[in-house]
This record gives sequence, C-alpha cells and structure tokens, in this order.
Amino acid sequence: MMLTDVTGRIATHLHTSTLMACLLMIPTAGALAQPHVHGVAQLLLVQDNARIHMEFTSPAINMVGFEHSPRTDAERQAIDEVRRALANLDSILTLSALDCDVDSIETAVTGMISIDGDTHNHHRHLHDADHAEFTATFELSCSRAQLPSELVITAFDNFQDLESIHATWSLQDTQGAQHLPRQNTRLRLRP
Ligand SMILES: [Zn+2]
Repeated sequence: MMLTDVTGRIATHLHTSTLMACLLMIPTAGALAQPHVHGVAQLLLVQDNARIHMEFTSPAINMVGFEHSPRTDAERQAIDEVRRALANLDSILTLSALDCDVDSIETAVTGMISIDGDTHNHHRHLHDADHAEFTATFELSCSRAQLPSELVITAFDNFQDLESIHATWSLQDTQGAQHLPRQNTRLRLRP
C-alpha cells in the first residue's frame, strides 16, 4: 500500500516535469511572456496525451476596470467575483465535448499595489506604469486524447471589457496561435 502511494507520487512529479519542458519549448514561452496590453487577454493550451494545461491571463482593467490595489469594499468584492468566475472553466471556453476532469484550478491576481496616501506626483507617475493581471490556471484530464478542431470561447460573454484574446496552443498533433476579436468566439486549433 505504501509502495503504491510513493510510486504514484513520483509518477505525478515526473509528469509535471514533462509538462514544464513542453511549456518551455513553445517559442512564445506561454502567456506570461506576452506584453501586457489593455483589452487583450492571453490563452495558452498545452496538451500532454490526455492531460491539458490551460492558462488564461488578462490585464485586471479588462476584468474589474482598475489595476490599483482595492480601496473600497466594492473593489475588493469585484476582485473576488472575478476570481470566482475564473475558477469556472466554462467562463473562459467550452471543453464539454472532451469530457474532462479538472485536477486543479488556481486563480491569482498579481501586481496590484497600494496608492493610498500617495499624493506625490513623481510617485504617482511611477505607479501609473505598473499593471495588474488576473491569471487562471487549470490542469485537466480528458477522456479523449484529441481536442476538437474548434473550441468555443465564452470569455467575451462573461467579461464585457475584454476586447480580444491572443491564443497559443501546443497539442499532440498541432500547434499554433490565433488572435480572436470579440466578435469571433471560434478558436480554430486546426486548419
Ligand atoms: Zn495595465
């Protein structure tokens, strides 16, 4: 019993390493390496057999309308609501045809700094150059090894200030990138 348990953990660890190696081989180096452009979110899909790593990153301004640290209860609540929404895969895209189990979900907001009590122009100018982002990361196990040729993006319906999504993918049989404006909810993974 113990032995099985230990072996299982080692296997999981190796698997994660393989996935990281895949990520590093992608020329764009994933969503995090993309520039922060207001209105534009990044979507990354990496497949390793039946496992899929999915990462969605968006400037906070697209999601809550601000990027400073929350100053009111309403702003704190807005952040919580977006994190809750992002924790639901269906709020970003539809993978229902694949019959996937969600192994792990992580949501984060990074870069929000306090500007409370900062009235000095020079400091404010510096802070204006700072940006904040929401990230949602999913690890999925799917019953089908091949993703369909098209995925339906639902994020535009759920996040009104999102203007476009830059998607990058590396699957078993294909890799590519597509820039989707609001009016295009079809992510074409294969020609
Ligand atoms: Zn920004």
